Amino acid sequence: MNEKKIGVFCSGGDAPGMNAALRAVVRRGIAQGVKIIAIHRGYQGIFDEAFEKMTPRSVGNIIQLGGTIIKTARCEKFYREEGVAEAAEILKKHNFTGLIAIGGDGTFRGLIELQKHWDGQIIGVPGTIDNDIFGTDYTIGFDTAIDTVIQMLDRIRDTAESHERVFIVEVMGRQSGFIALEVGIGCGAEAVLIPEHPINLREIAKQVKEAHKREKKSVIIVVAEGVSNNKIFEFCNKLTNQEGLEFKTHISILGHVQRGGSPSALDRWLATRLGAFAIDCILEGSTGIMVGEQNHQLVKVPLKETGKKKSIDQYAYSLIRDLAI
Ligand code: ATP
Repeated sequence: MNEKKIGVFCSGGDAPGMNAALRAVVRRGIAQGVKIIAIHRGYQGIFDEAFEKMTPRSVGNIIQLGGTIIKTARCEKFYREEGVAEAAEILKKHNFTGLIAIGGDGTFRGLIELQKHWDGQIIGVPGTIDNDIFGTDYTIGFDTAIDTVIQMLDRIRDTAESHERVFIVEVMGRQSGFIALEVGIGCGAEAVLIPEHPINLREIAKQVKEAHKREKKSVIIVVAEGVSNNKIFEFCNKLTNQEGLEFKTHISILGHVQRGGSPSALDRWLATRLGAFAIDCILEGSTGIMVGEQNHQLVKVPLKETGKKKSIDQYAYSLIRDLAI
């Protein structure tokens, strides 16, 4: 009885392409003789024993679907050591030999904790729209999310330009500015405010005033939510009431629309290769790793390294001001 029995689950925020990754795990796994069990609702599904034996048909016609058919969740219990130990016991009781988790940095921290209590194989697949995971150039869902946000920003630009307005647009990114920076570049934003860089409100207010002097008809300031910290209205008031530099603005919070939608071709490509590669890593005996992509090559990265801070593209960031003259 050496058959591998692998659990697969999605955890943390949903991201377009999670279904494509799941499909690849299931089909590559079954094709290679591995038993694949879907765990519904992330870590919570282990406690609830929400297990489903997958067949190739279980993942039919899902590659193009946003979200995740096996649901995702955030699980408080897993933050506590007793919770992790309990989960490990449940995995042993059901004879799991490995786990493949599709999620973000929090999910990977959970995997690192689980390793202390369980000796099954553990593989992480980076699935988050934030793209903030060290060790992989891109995460599953990021490409779709930035396409979605750029479409929204183009629409905001239309109305901003017609009414000659300043817009502040809040986009996702609690700890990181990857989304803000790429969409800022992609839509020609006049300013991009990200957690990785100190924010000088007076300087930004000055930039807006100068843009008006240069007869710019509209101004778009993209703000990552890590900068506004769930207080975009307060933040906006502070910015627009700088003494001697007052101006009016409109606020748009894009919110959860950024997560949804059919995955882009690039996300399907990335998700499919990473999902299948996760199975290959299981078959060759790897554990404690994340599968990722660097310079278009599939790579294995120790889970412990994935917590390092991933740098944004400083060159792109430095261009924002020049490109908005
Ligand atoms: P996203 O980047 O989309 O938010 P994520 O995986 O980072 O995805 P989190 O909510 O941070 O999302 O983490 C998902 C789950 O992982 C948590 O709800 C929790 O169950 C588990 N988790 C996170 N951090 C830890 C930790 N330090 N120890 C144990 N479990 C953790």
